[in-house]
Amino acid sequence: VSAKEVAQHFQTRIETLDRKLNSFTSINPNSLSDAAEIDARIAKGEDVGPMAGVPFGIKEMLCTKGIRTTAGSKILENFIPPYDATVVARLKKAGVVVLGKLNQDEFAMGSSNETSFHGSVKNPWNLECVPGGSSGGSAAAQAARLVAGTIGTDTGGSIRQPASFCGIVGVKPTYGRVSRYGIIAYASSLDQAGPMVSSVKDAALTLEVISGFDENDSTTTQKQVPAWSKSLKSDIKGLKIGIKKENMAGSLHPDVQKTVEKSIETLKQMGAEIVEVSVPLTEMAVPVYYLVAASEASSNLARYDGVKYGYRADFKNLSAIELDEFYGKTRGEGFGAEVKRRIMLGTYCLSSGYYDAYYNKAGQVRRLITNQYLEAFKKCDVILSPVTTAPAFKLGERIDDPLEMYLNDIFTTSTNLAGLPGMSVPFGLSQDGLPIGIQLTACHFEEQKMLDVAFALE
Ligand code: GLN
Repeated sequence: VSAKEVAQHFQTRIETLDRKLNSFTSINPNSLSDAAEIDARIAKGEDVGPMAGVPFGIKEMLCTKGIRTTAGSKILENFIPPYDATVVARLKKAGVVVLGKLNQDEFAMGSSNETSFHGSVKNPWNLECVPGGSSGGSAAAQAARLVAGTIGTDTGGSIRQPASFCGIVGVKPTYGRVSRYGIIAYASSLDQAGPMVSSVKDAALTLEVISGFDENDSTTTQKQVPAWSKSLKSDIKGLKIGIKKENMAGSLHPDVQKTVEKSIETLKQMGAEIVEVSVPLTEMAVPVYYLVAASEASSNLARYDGVKYGYRADFKNLSAIELDEFYGKTRGEGFGAEVKRRIMLGTYCLSSGYYDAYYNKAGQVRRLITNQYLEAFKKCDVILSPVTTAPAFKLGERIDDPLEMYLNDIFTTSTNLAGLPGMSVPFGLSQDGLPIGIQLTACHFEEQKMLDVAFALE
């Protein structure tokens, strides 16, 4: 088949099936001609790249040249970027055809995709359930096979949690592996983009394409990108799998508990060695994460003032108003409730007099969490844990209780705080037929080990 036929096939699926899911927010009007161009280059004998003609959906957080990029917010409702994020540019260079943009929580703040300006997304496994968040559109579109692959971003779990809720593979790379250039900033010291796809092999290949040094992002590593997809092996004999003592302490849903136990048993039978490790400060991960993330967000989101780009409140006589009033009205109308909550929380933590008590303290505990992980990785190769305490919850069930929603991130946030690579791989279903993922975490830049264990479990 030609790239154009493939793009046409998926486009038809989007047109017919996405009315129920609401996973797409914008469609690339040029996707068929982009695909035809790939076909023409193939016909000329050109090397079109390792992902020639593969149709992808891209989370709204990533800038796409000429395609609307809203970050799920009214404040960017008409923003059309003049350039591609490095991740998008690299995918295109590898031959990927961008089909459109995918729904998400507003500025990636959320765990259920219910804070999006474009409305909530439904979980394809059960339309009454959330797909998870913030990359809910990516997870739902991939699970419903509306695309061959998607890109998500993960600041505190936003790739892994929706991947788990929708039964797909989601990888958050080591901090610094993937360029953040052109990705709308939420919390810059935590944000990473990564693949949300249907198999570990697809994840490895996509990661290979998007990773590596970028002169436009000084936090990217100079380290060479390994050929993960070619090195994948399911022989994990002798590999040490760490189980955190702290994991089981909380009250896990029985189906999640069983799935985790089954995965451990499976790996044991394959010859892996199971060792107990301890990261006692895991219990502090949620409060530390929400302090750090909200603080950085409050600073990053200061740029949306209605002056240079984005939404601007309607003023009859612009010259007669005060600047503060202008900012206030624009931001008041442009941001949703959750984003405002985070901006207020973050501004408070960064304000003089509170900085040392909150932001600085959070930074110190963050360092201790990282150190505890480094100790744990002296005893094991990969840490296995749940992704969430329970399978996907119902739409509307938690949206009015922010604290309950934040606590949902107990297993995912410490990975970002420590800058470690983490992923979710599907492993079984709940009694109600909802997917459950297993989380694998490795030491910095050890993605291969994590991918291998996922490959063995797949
Ligand atoms: N649920 C977390 C939050 O709301 C994580 C989001 C993310 O990883 N982008 O901040």
